[in-house]
Amino acid sequence: MLATIMYKAGDVRVESIPDACIQQSTDALIRIIRACICGSDLWPYRLKQPDGTGQNMGHEAIGRVEAVGKSVRKIKVGDVVIMPFAYSDGTCDFCNEGLHTACTQGGFFGNAEVGGAQAEALRVPQADGTLYALPVAEDDALMPSLLTLSDVMGTGHHAAVVARVGKGKKAAVIGDGAVGLCGVIAAKRLGAEQIIILGRHPDRIELAKQFGATNVVNERGDEAIARVRELTDGFGVHSVLECVGTEQAMATSMGIVRAGGMVGRVGVPHYDQIPQAQPMFYSNVLVGGGPAPVRAYIDELLPDVLEGRIQPGLVFDRTIGLEDVPDGYRAMDTREAIKVMVRP
Ligand SMILES: [Zn+2]
Repeated sequence: MLATIMYKAGDVRVESIPDACIQQSTDALIRIIRACICGSDLWPYRLKQPDGTGQNMGHEAIGRVEAVGKSVRKIKVGDVVIMPFAYSDGTCDFCNEGLHTACTQGGFFGNAEVGGAQAEALRVPQADGTLYALPVAEDDALMPSLLTLSDVMGTGHHAAVVARVGKGKKAAVIGDGAVGLCGVIAAKRLGAEQIIILGRHPDRIELAKQFGATNVVNERGDEAIARVRELTDGFGVHSVLECVGTEQAMATSMGIVRAGGMVGRVGVPHYDQIPQAQPMFYSNVLVGGGPAPVRAYIDELLPDVLEGRIQPGLVFDRTIGLEDVPDGYRAMDTREAIKVMVRP
């Protein structure tokens, strides 16, 4: 079968690899109906050092179940399923607490052990806990929005939940990538009265406004901080959704969060220490977040997608076949595309 392998920065290939198959009794085998390229895939695309082996890429998918292991009970052959970016058993203490990304039997897709979703097929561990069967056919018009529930919409929602966005509150979203844009949807959905998007790409800003952003801040660094404070009576926002992961994004978060406010981090941090420890202390600011338990959020978000109240699928502005995945990486890396959907 064909799968996407990353060898080193800038060197991603679609290659023939051994067919995915059931290895454990709790596995399912899915045929990929839709996958996509993630902003987080761009980190290895920019930085990966060659190590002799390639990395299987892709952690977001909708698939059709082709086979299940003998102890799989809930998931059935033929089901159309969402595959969250992390697998989880659905039964351990952490899964029961809604933190599926800390599952004691869990892990992540997109590596040599489990394989990646930018491929024709994939083995899914812990199928009963991981997969979410959808009440739609595989050619449903809502596929793009449903696909976002495997990562970016759930991740944007997580940033908003951690940052405690609520009715009448002021929120700021740092980052205008697909996760940031979904963060805008989530902030509006949770009742924020003011939603400030920090970003500078015109096409993304337009989409952010469509999703409910009330203000746009194009500036960066200290100028961005000053501008957000100006827009919020000088105090800053109650909730910051940090959807980038750079030190500058975190420093900006600290500069725009109001006393007693919260910063929800979902951008994978590419820094060692959170800056501004003293202002954070004196302002009683909370910082939280991490890999989103998107599996836990599907129940809550799915009805809004099915009934058209939210349309996170609009973040996909390009659809390609599997053979064109390398060009999809290039298009996202150069900001030519916001998010690329793959139809194997
Ligand atoms: Zn678990």
